[in-house]
Amino acid sequence: MNVYDSDRMVDLLKSAGYSKTQNLGSADLIILNTCHIREKAEEKVYSELGRLTKLKIRRKEQGSKILIAVAGCVAQAEGQRILERAPIVDLVFGPQTYHRLPSMVQNAMADNKRIIDTEFPVEDKFDYLAEGSQQGGPSKFLTIQEGCDRFCTFCVVPYTRGAEQSRSAISIAKEARRLVADGAREITLLGQNVNAWHGESPSGAEWKLGRLICYLAEIEGIDRIRYTTSHPKDVDDELIDAHRAVPQLMPFLHLPVQSGSDKILAAMNRHHNAKDYYYTVEKLRKACPEIALSSDFIVGFPGEEDVDYAKTIKMINDVGYAQAYSFKYSSRPGTPAADITDQVEDNVAAERLAGLQQLLRAQQDAFLSAQKGKTVKVLFERRGKQIGQICGRSPYMHPVHAHAPDSFLGKIAEVHIAEVMTNSLSGEVELGDRLSSITAFAEGASL
Ligand code: SAH
Ligand code: SF4
Repeated sequence: MNVYDSDRMVDLLKSAGYSKTQNLGSADLIILNTCHIREKAEEKVYSELGRLTKLKIRRKEQGSKILIAVAGCVAQAEGQRILERAPIVDLVFGPQTYHRLPSMVQNAMADNKRIIDTEFPVEDKFDYLAEGSQQGGPSKFLTIQEGCDRFCTFCVVPYTRGAEQSRSAISIAKEARRLVADGAREITLLGQNVNAWHGESPSGAEWKLGRLICYLAEIEGIDRIRYTTSHPKDVDDELIDAHRAVPQLMPFLHLPVQSGSDKILAAMNRHHNAKDYYYTVEKLRKACPEIALSSDFIVGFPGEEDVDYAKTIKMINDVGYAQAYSFKYSSRPGTPAADITDQVEDNVAAERLAGLQQLLRAQQDAFLSAQKGKTVKVLFERRGKQIGQICGRSPYMHPVHAHAPDSFLGKIAEVHIAEVMTNSLSGEVELGDRLSSITAFAEGASL
């Protein structure tokens, strides 16, 4: 979502006369769009600000002024403290106020004042965003929902991103059409708890995510739909049905479970137990047999004992993941879990994390290796490192390389997988089907 938000900031700043640069040294405005989810992410912001101090001093000596801004969730959570700790910072604003960026920048330049805006405003940010275009290839993000009302006890999101808010189906479809006009073939719907989306339908009724996906699938040009990140408790039957009925909906779902222990799930306030999760996975697999799953896991949550960890390992073995992210619990100030005294020793948590990651890596490798010899549909997104090579993604998000002309970029083609690398696949574009090869070549150079 920070990538999406950063693109929106670029759009907004265009109207104020700015353009994006890859060269930090020549920038007039530098925005750090930050994440507060774990302590490490927060620390990075302060060390980055330390590095930027030298740049700002150098530019001042050369007689030019640069503005330095901290945006995103660290800005929201730390606010005034950032201005105190980092004198070089001119602007601090949260994820809900960045639509006010052009006027903030103007004020900071004109009045030489330091600005802080971490409100949760009454106006809808999305009404103020410029009609911009996203950089890059045919795969685009689209935020449909923001904030979270779930209040998992370890998580800062409800405090930094605020209460759950869903955009209307019409506003989402309008943005989707614009993305398609800009070359999008795949759209990933975003939200902190994306499947809690419950927005206004075109007729004014309330829809849930499954219905929205069906509606978006009707837009011509959208060949692939994904959504992330989902909460297991918010997977309803309509959403499961969408996995059965909507061919554009990719058979790959990130469904974080965090832990396999009921005791820990309850302490995390996840609102479901292990059995509920198994049942949801079973229903999803029945609806879409080729579906592959991904998850997030936290080890070392306060009170986690060996027996709880063993249940998480059992769950990983039972479910089988194509991919997953795993983290050591990080105590976040202001969250309920930070007050639990029964913290797990760091070395114990580190050992558990290593064991869990070894298992997840083995599952990921096995899933990747199983692609060898298959023919997979690849959406080609960009040129590869080698001459004549292009890269794209499979339905399971695996990066796939193939030798094919640039005319395949932005198109979906079938690729026979010949080789499996550590994290990616490579193969030959299938030209056996005369019709599809003619379609693929129609708009570009010949092979
Ligand atoms: N909304 C999603 C996840 C958002 S945060 C969900 O409900 O699952 C992304 C991931 O960061 C979480 O799934 C969790 O695994 C991890 N995370 C969040 N807070 C954390 C913390 N305090 N310590 C360690 N990992 C954390
Ligand atoms: Fe955080 Fe996700 Fe829980 Fe919301 S549902 S509080 S975003 S972990």
